[in-house]
Amino acid sequence: MAEDRAVDAGPSPLVAGSLAVTLLSLTWLGTNWFHPWSPSLLGWVFPLLSAAIATVAARRAGTTVGIAPAARRFWRTGGAAALLIVVALLSNAWDAVGTPGAPTQAISGRTLGLYVAGMIVTLWALLRLPGTARPGGPHRGRFLLDASAVVITTGLLGWHVAFRNIDDWAGTAASGATVLSTVLLASVAVLTLMKLAVAGVGAVDRRALHLLAIAAAVGAAGGAAAPLMAGHPHVSDAHLTVPLTMLVFTLAADSQRRAAGRNGTPATGRRPFSLVPYAAVAVTDGLLLAATARAGDGALVVAIGAVALTGVVVVRQISAAYDIAGLLRRVDATDRELRAVRGQLAHQAHHDELTGLANRRLLEERIRQAVADGLPASVVLIDLDDFKAINDRLGHVMGDALLVIVGDRMRACVRVEDTVARLGGDEFALLLVGISAIDADTVLRRVGTALDEPVRVGPHDLLVGSSMGLADAWRGADPTELLRRADLAMYAAKEQGKGRQARYEPALDARAASDAQLGADLRQALERGEFHLLFQPVVRLPEGRPVGAEALVRWQHPERGLIRPDAFIGAAERTGLIVPLGAWILREACTRAAEWLHGYGATQPWRISVNISARQLREPGFAAHVDEALRATGLPAGRLMVEVTETAVFDNGPAVEALTQISDLGVAVALDDFGTGHSSLGLLRTTPVNVLKVDKSFVDGITGGSEEVVIASAMIRLAEGLHLGAVAEGVETPAQADRLHELGYGLAQGYYFARPLPAARVGELLAAEADRQPARHRTGPPARRSGEPDARAPAGSAPLLAR
Ligand code: C2E
Ligand code: CA
Ligand code: CA
Repeated sequence: MAEDRAVDAGPSPLVAGSLAVTLLSLTWLGTNWFHPWSPSLLGWVFPLLSAAIATVAARRAGTTVGIAPAARRFWRTGGAAALLIVVALLSNAWDAVGTPGAPTQAISGRTLGLYVAGMIVTLWALLRLPGTARPGGPHRGRFLLDASAVVITTGLLGWHVAFRNIDDWAGTAASGATVLSTVLLASVAVLTLMKLAVAGVGAVDRRALHLLAIAAAVGAAGGAAAPLMAGHPHVSDAHLTVPLTMLVFTLAADSQRRAAGRNGTPATGRRPFSLVPYAAVAVTDGLLLAATARAGDGALVVAIGAVALTGVVVVRQISAAYDIAGLLRRVDATDRELRAVRGQLAHQAHHDELTGLANRRLLEERIRQAVADGLPASVVLIDLDDFKAINDRLGHVMGDALLVIVGDRMRACVRVEDTVARLGGDEFALLLVGISAIDADTVLRRVGTALDEPVRVGPHDLLVGSSMGLADAWRGADPTELLRRADLAMYAAKEQGKGRQARYEPALDARAASDAQLGADLRQALERGEFHLLFQPVVRLPEGRPVGAEALVRWQHPERGLIRPDAFIGAAERTGLIVPLGAWILREACTRAAEWLHGYGATQPWRISVNISARQLREPGFAAHVDEALRATGLPAGRLMVEVTETAVFDNGPAVEALTQISDLGVAVALDDFGTGHSSLGLLRTTPVNVLKVDKSFVDGITGGSEEVVIASAMIRLAEGLHLGAVAEGVETPAQADRLHELGYGLAQGYYFARPLPAARVGELLAAEADRQPARHRTGPPARRSGEPDARAPAGSAPLLAR
C-alpha cells in the first residue's frame, strides 16, 4: 500500500506553495530594497508562511506509513524545529516592525534564542539519526578526513567572506546573532554531510538528506550575506534566507514522503570516491586564486602552480580510486558468487530435493512466522493412501515421479503465500495463511479432488487417494504441537476409510489419551490371559439347527468385570494392539474348533467364523499367518470363515490381496454388517466373498412391512444371483425368523436362537447335531444360563435353538 503511494505521488502542493511564497518574498525584497513600497509587516508574512509550510511538510513525512520509524522520528523532530522557526520569525517581525524605532534589522535576545533553539533541535535530530555503517574501521577514518576538509574550507570561506570584514558588521546590532546563527547553520550543513558520508543514510531518504544539507548551506550563506543588507533597514536578511531555506527543507520532507516504502536508496551506481574533499580543494583553490589575484603577479603565478599541482594530484588520486573500484568490483563479483552458493546451500537446507517443495524445517519456520505475525493459519497433513503399494509394485523411479506430480498438483491448488511441504515419504503438508476455516475447507476439498484424478506415470494411470487432517493455529501456537494436531486429525480421517478429511478437535486428544491408557491395559490383559472367546451359533432356517458359530471376544477385567468388544476393539485397532490380540483370537478359535472336530466327529458340515479387523488384513503376511494357525491346530481350512467389514476391503488394495490369498487356502470369506458400510456392489466382483451377513438393522424392521423388507428381500436376491450364502444377523423374535424364512433366508444368527456361549456348550450342540438327535431335547438350558449377563436379551428369552 505504502509502496503504491510512493510510486503514484508527485511533488506535493506544499512544495508548489513554498515555491510561490519564496518568489513572492524575493519580489517583495526586490521592490522594497531601496524604498519601502509596501508596509514592512507584509514582507514578514512570506517567511512566516514558508516556515509554516515547512512545518506541515515535516509533520506529514513524520506520519507517513511505510517510512522507517527512525526516519519518522527524525522528521517529527524536524517539524518541531521548523515550528520553532515560525515562532522565532513572529518574534523577529515584532522586533523589526512592532517596536519603537522600527524598521530595524536589530533582533532581540528572545528572537535570537528562538532561532538558536530551532537550529539546536535540528542538530539534535541529526545526531540521533542511526547510521547504516558499523562504527570504526576505514569508513570512520575517511569520514574524519572528509569532515576535516569540509571544516577547513568552511572556516577559510567564512574567514574570507565574513569574518575578515568583521569591521563592516560592527554597525549592525544583529552582528553577534548573525555570526552565531551562521556558524550554527554551517554546522548543521557539515553534520548532515558527515552523516551522509560516514553513516550512510540508513532510515532517511538519501535525496532528502542531500536537500537538508543544501538547506543548511543556503541558510548559512544567507546569514553570511547579512552584512550586505546593512544599508537597507526596510528589509531583512530573513526575507531572503528563510523562504529559500524553508523551500529546500520542504522539498526534502516531500522527497522523504515520496520515498515511503523504499528502504533508503540503493547505493548502486555510486561514484567510487567521495566528491566532498575535492569540492573542498576546488573551493579553497578558487579562494587562493581570488586572494592572490589582488596580491600581485609573483604570488599569482605560485598560486596557479599550486592549484595546477593539486589538480594533478586530484586527477591521479581519482584514477587510483577507479583502479581500486575495479578491484573492488571483482571482489564484489566473487562475493556475489559466494552469496549465490550460500543461497543455494540455504535453499537445499530448506527444501525437499525430489519435489523442490519446502521441507519440515522451512514449514516450521513459516508456521512460526505466521503465528508471530498474528495471521490466522491452518496446517494440513496429507498422506497418500496407496503410495506404498504403488512404490512396491512399480519401483522407486515410478514412485518418485508420482510424488513430483502430486507435489505439483498441490502447489496448483494453493496461493503463492501458502506453503506446500513434503515431510518425507508420501507425507505432505500445507500451510494456509490468512484464510478462514471455511476457506481452508474449500482448499482441502480442492486438493482432495486434484489428488483423486489418475496420475499418468510412464505407461501407468495410477490412482492415489489422500487422507487429510487439518488443524488451525492459535495465538502463540507451537509448530510441533500444531503439526501433531494435524497428524491426529489425519489419523482420524484414515480411520474413517480412505480419501477422507478430518479437522482436529480436542476430543481427538482425549480419545488418544484414553486409547493410550486402554492400549497399555490391553497389552497387559493379553499377557495375563484376561481374554476369552464365546461362540454364537449360526443356525439353519426354519428348524434352527446349528451349522456353525461365530467367535466373539470377551475381556474379563479384574476390576471392571466383563467388558464387551465394542468398548475396546476400536482402541485396539487404533493402537495397533488388535494385531497381537487378533492373532490370539484366531489361534484360540481354531484350537476350540479343532477340539470340537476331534471330540464329536467331522460328519456335520459346520464352520467357525472369526472376525478380522481391517488393520489385521493390512498387516503384511496375514494370509500366511492364517495358514500357520490352521496347520498348528490341525483345523481344515474349509472349517474356517473370516468375517470382514465392507469398509475394510473398500480400498481395493492390500486388504483384497490378503483376502484372495486366504480364500485360496480354502478359507471362506463373509462380508460382515452388509448394507451398512460403503456397500459398493463392485466390491462383490473384486473380492472373493462367499457369505453376506445382513446387518441387524435390516432384520429389526422386517416384521413391520416397511422399507427394511424391501432391502432384506433385495439382499437375498442379490446373494442368490451371485451364488453367495446369506446370514441374517440379530434375529430376536420368532416373527422375525418366520419372515426371514419367507423371504428366502436359509441361515440366521441371533438371541432368539442362541446367545454367545462358552466353547464347550457349542461343542455339545454340534455333537448333538452329529447324533441327529432332535435339537430341543439335547440342548437343555436357555441362553441366559450361558453365563453371559446381557441387557440386550429379549424378554422371556427364546428357547435355545427353538422351533
Ligand atoms: P459383529 O461381528 O456384528 O458381531 C455380532 C454382535 O451382535 C455380537 O456382539 C453379538 O453378541 C451381537 N448379537 C448377536 N445376536 C444378537 C441379537 O439377537 N440381538 C442383539 N442385540 N445383538 C446380537 P459382540 O459380541 O458384543 O460384538 C460386537 C462387535 O465387536 C462384533 O460385531 C465385532 O464387530 C466385534 N468383535 C467381537 N469379537 C471380535 C473379535 O474377536 N475380533 C474382532 N476383530 N472384532 C470382534
Ligand atoms: Ca461378525
Ligand atoms: Ca455383524
